[in-house]
Amino acid sequence: MLKLGCGVLGDLLSADRGYRGPAVPCGNGHEAVFVSYRDKVLDTVLGPVTLNRAWYHCKTCKHGLAPRDAELGVAGTSLSPGLTAMNDKAAAAGPFAGAASMLEDLAGVRLTVKRTERAAEASGAAHAAQVRDRSALIAGRKLVPMPPRPVPDMLYGVIDGTGVPMTARETAGRDARARTAAPAPARSSSPSSSPSTPWTRTATRSATGPPPATSPPSSPPASSRTWSRQKGSAAAPSTSGS
Ligand SMILES: [Zn+2]
Repeated sequence: MLKLGCGVLGDLLSADRGYRGPAVPCGNGHEAVFVSYRDKVLDTVLGPVTLNRAWYHCKTCKHGLAPRDAELGVAGTSLSPGLTAMNDKAAAAGPFAGAASMLEDLAGVRLTVKRTERAAEASGAAHAAQVRDRSALIAGRKLVPMPPRPVPDMLYGVIDGTGVPMTARETAGRDARARTAAPAPARSSSPSSSPSTPWTRTATRSATGPPPATSPPSSPPASSRTWSRQKGSAAAPSTSGS
């Protein structure tokens, strides 16, 4: 069955051999000229498929390329995008050796541990670069991320950590600890308030600002603990009764 699928996929991919004229842009401002048709063995979810596609070469860069590879998302790699995604999932679940044998057990695809590792690390690096680029665009106000749906009715900002490394120049004349740990303005009563750590107060203040007088005085972690306890204690009698 896999062999049949593999054959069909091979025929489909061979339908376009990727000839894009006598010359194509090399990507660095030059022209790469057509050389010949070359084979590339591509590992896919269905098994290995041989891709015969047009190969171009740039004299200035001394570097070859196949436009068809880029179109199929396999430039610089010999794993298909589908198998790459499968490999990423398996590699994220545990050691690379386990990922390679998992791929073989579940999909019948045999990859060496080294290939599993290389492919997963390349995917990780590409994803990290994507996140960095996106963050830079958002920080530069060139990209406005769409809000999630449904929009949450409350957000908590939590800073988790015991210290932030600072240079002497940044802390000159400032008592950073006293500022972040300063008590919130005039709360009339807080009967259930546990001894708040500095980060808790910082989180509460940065998330909601000075709270209105009627708002409950509990901090976010305290309220979530209360909720889970209530849920647990409410469930307990019903299970014991039945
Ligand atoms: Zn070039």
